[in-house]
Amino acid sequence: MRQTLIKSEKLQAVEQMGAAISHEIRNPLTAANGFVQLLMNNNLPRHKQKEYLTIIKDELQSAERVIQDYLTFSKPSLETVELLQVKKELNNVISILKPTANQHSVEILTNFGIVGSIEGDRQKFQQCFINVIKNAIEAMPRGGHIHIETLYERTHVKIIVSDTGIGMTKEQIERLGEPYYSTKGPKGTGLGMMVVYSIVKAMNGTIDVTSRLDEGTVFTFSFPSVLSQNEMIADSS
Ligand code: ADP
Ligand code: MG
Repeated sequence: MRQTLIKSEKLQAVEQMGAAISHEIRNPLTAANGFVQLLMNNNLPRHKQKEYLTIIKDELQSAERVIQDYLTFSKPSLETVELLQVKKELNNVISILKPTANQHSVEILTNFGIVGSIEGDRQKFQQCFINVIKNAIEAMPRGGHIHIETLYERTHVKIIVSDTGIGMTKEQIERLGEPYYSTKGPKGTGLGMMVVYSIVKAMNGTIDVTSRLDEGTVFTFSFPSVLSQNEMIADSS
């Protein structure tokens, strides 16, 4: 099953996402705050205290997940476009996710060929791949492998992320990137892929997804490459 991305109508919604996201964070915080107020009552029986504390913990975790998927690096409005060395940025993302991968018995393998540079906002690029690789880890509840491969083509840099996880149905693939679409129940936000599609679009990139149930998923990203001075000289000969 395969589908190439042009999901502009889904992405249009993303432009106004800032407000929606702060709403997503405010809701659980308001709920947590309410239960803290209740806990301030000294006469509360022990079991009620425990119940309220559990709710508070869940609500705070839910707010934290929204922040992780959407704003790991904060600064949602500041867009700084710089030259990004793909290999360096991906290695940074991998080092951030290594502890999580280890916890889930997931091994991350890389095959970085000659990789060019692309243009984009460094923090957003990293957020994008954090979200993709985090999903890959979460798709392998019994552990597995993630392969991250880069290919340098004349005009494009390709980044291929594959996992040996649960895979997706055709319907799931079609709904990827839809705000709040998640199959993870209360542990999901359904914001991670929306953010991925939005960042890739802003970088003039494309996403291609192929997946097989119980076998795994392959995400192929393609970004316009930026030739360095030396490469341009070599190219013109
Ligand atoms: P969340 O991770 O909070 O559920 P995302 O937007 O990150 O939200 O992902 C949306 C959905 O896409 C997930 O709930 C899952 O069903 C599916 N998905 C994304 N990546 C993968 C993957 N590598 N393998 C299987 N399913 C995936
Ligand atoms: Mg996710």
